Amino acid sequence: MDLVSRIHALPDLLERAILEAGPDRYKVQDRLRREHEEAGLPFFWSMPYRSPAQPCSRGAHQVPVTLHEIGVPGRGLVKLWEAELHEIESHGAGVPADLKRLLDDLPAPPPDETGPGKRPVREGA
Ligand SMILES: [Zn+2]
Repeated sequence: MDLVSRIHALPDLLERAILEAGPDRYKVQDRLRREHEEAGLPFFWSMPYRSPAQPCSRGAHQVPVTLHEIGVPGRGLVKLWEAELHEIESHGAGVPADLKRLLDDLPAPPPDETGPGKRPVREGA
């Protein structure tokens, strides 16, 4: 599995929190994060900022100002802006070395991790 697929396979905690909680999504997301950390499960945590979306390096897309934290309990945590993820996913930028180390050899998610709340695969445009 390539690294972008591994990122997409991580449980998307904000997506799950929105499904579960609506307006309390950030509180719920933080609870889900604690649960994942305690269970030793990897996660993809997101915090959107109230700033206007910014153009990407090609000027072709507007990218939301969102900070992601990708955590693998026992292995570490990598912070990544949506803009950096966009460059990797849509414009072929390299995966940062710390993220590559974090995701290398990450076991495939169990079958029950493939339902709602999984980070959706977006079409590169
Ligand atoms: Zn772009």
